[in-house]
Amino acid sequence: MPDVRAAIIPVTPFQQNCTLLWCEKTRKAAVIDPGGDLDRIRQAIAQSGATVEKIILTHGHIDHAGGAAELRDELGVPVEGPHEADRFLLDRLAEQGRNYGFEARPVTPDRWLNEGDTVSVGDLTLDVLHCPGHSPGSVVLVSKDQRFALVGDVLFQGSVGRVDLPGGDGKALIRSIKDKLLPLGDDIAFICGHGPTSTIGRERQTNPYLQGEGLL
Ligand SMILES: [Zn+2]
Ligand SMILES: [Zn+2]
Repeated sequence: MPDVRAAIIPVTPFQQNCTLLWCEKTRKAAVIDPGGDLDRIRQAIAQSGATVEKIILTHGHIDHAGGAAELRDELGVPVEGPHEADRFLLDRLAEQGRNYGFEARPVTPDRWLNEGDTVSVGDLTLDVLHCPGHSPGSVVLVSKDQRFALVGDVLFQGSVGRVDLPGGDGKALIRSIKDKLLPLGDDIAFICGHGPTSTIGRERQTNPYLQGEGLL
């Protein structure tokens, strides 16, 4: 089994959890959601001693994708994800940046991701779940062997992603979480787009948005 390491790098004024994920055996890494503050990301890459082989995007919001085009040019690696339903967000990253007061360039991924696809990082294989609701093209990446997931802004410790942005859909979000994330198993630990990590079990039992038949 691959020995997996992760470093969480909070970036942008939104304190988004950019994640550097690497396979210790091959020393190959992926940068997940490089929203901005590329200096901090470069530093984490250097500290890890790993070689970045790809950039992965969980969805098209600026705090997750704003630095992807620049980092891709710099490292010469492909961008994988999100689902193509977020193309409209990635096309408008410059505009999103102007609204929030920072610079970003639009990015077109080298590979769109679909439900059932897999993404590799070194010897590690991540399964792709398409989880619309926070944005139409949000994806979650799961390692069933290593029992962890990267959930973007779909689920947080004690909360769920906001659904008031373009393309947001509260019912779809709860369906994505209940139908796709909760069945992964209580022991799955996850890194989310903002705030502390958690586990599926903890959220199933205590997250106020997931109790009963509650819909947003
Ligand atoms: Zn988001
Ligand atoms: Zn976010």
